[in-house]
Amino acid sequence: MNQNTSFQVKTILTVLALLSAFPAFARLNVVASLPDLAAIAMAIGGEHVEVFSLAKPQEDPHFVEAKPSLILKLSRADALIEGGAELESGWLPSLLDRCRNTRIASGAPGRISCSQSVRLLEIPTSLDRSKGDIHAAGNPHYLVDPENARRVAKQIGESFEALDPKNVVAYQANLKKFTTDLDTKLAEWAKLMQPLKGRELAAYHNSWLYFAGHFGFKIDIFLEPKPGVPPTPPHLAGVISRMKASGVKVIIVDPYLDRRTAETVAARSGAVVVDVAQFPGGIKGTENDYLKLMDKNVQAIAAALVK
Ligand SMILES: [Zn+2]
Repeated sequence: MNQNTSFQVKTILTVLALLSAFPAFARLNVVASLPDLAAIAMAIGGEHVEVFSLAKPQEDPHFVEAKPSLILKLSRADALIEGGAELESGWLPSLLDRCRNTRIASGAPGRISCSQSVRLLEIPTSLDRSKGDIHAAGNPHYLVDPENARRVAKQIGESFEALDPKNVVAYQANLKKFTTDLDTKLAEWAKLMQPLKGRELAAYHNSWLYFAGHFGFKIDIFLEPKPGVPPTPPHLAGVISRMKASGVKVIIVDPYLDRRTAETVAARSGAVVVDVAQFPGGIKGTENDYLKLMDKNVQAIAAALVK
């Protein structure tokens, strides 16, 4: 390599380094704890954000594997969107301790904690973790109520506007589109679910409370004795007799739970198991799309109940 070529190579490398440090269209680097929050962030951020979900759609949101690769993602994030209400309390704090990123520290503008936007249900009057209940701050699975998705989308939009004011117009337009699409779907779902109001379902884990509240179902039979506590034979015997007594014909199960146990209970109580998911991608064909996922959940439950 002669001196001239060497100089040219150095110049090109310098220019490339500068370009990567100051990209012309820098996108907001967003990390979401869970895929439902990530999907809403993608809908609101559009082309102005890069979104990564720490948890996979098939992972239990209470027990996500705290891999070192996730620390790297967090260390580079401009924003962290979390569910809060202790949903991620078993794994996210240790990752945050190790990522040393002040942009997403508690209280920083880049820390978007979405439980602030919703009214939590089942907040315990006295804190008692001794029995293993992992819903110690109230039920944290609030995004299965589409109205809570509307609230969370608004909060995420406002946070993006504050962090990236030059793209306010785009964020507002994307939020408007999301809520308009949501309204269209809500009308369809209401029509489908209206005749099924008051019906009772059983669930493996208490993650469908807000969904039941929105659509007028009753869910108070759970395969887990307490949220996060694995089913025991005596508890399941009680579940089967309660299901028979109340005529409950459907057990809903998330992808990360033990479907075989649900199948056994269903076989002994004359019910069917219905696969539902809180997280886009938890049902095939719903990747990164909250409304598509909820559509599948609503269709699956309605189809099982009308039988
Ligand atoms: Zn839970």
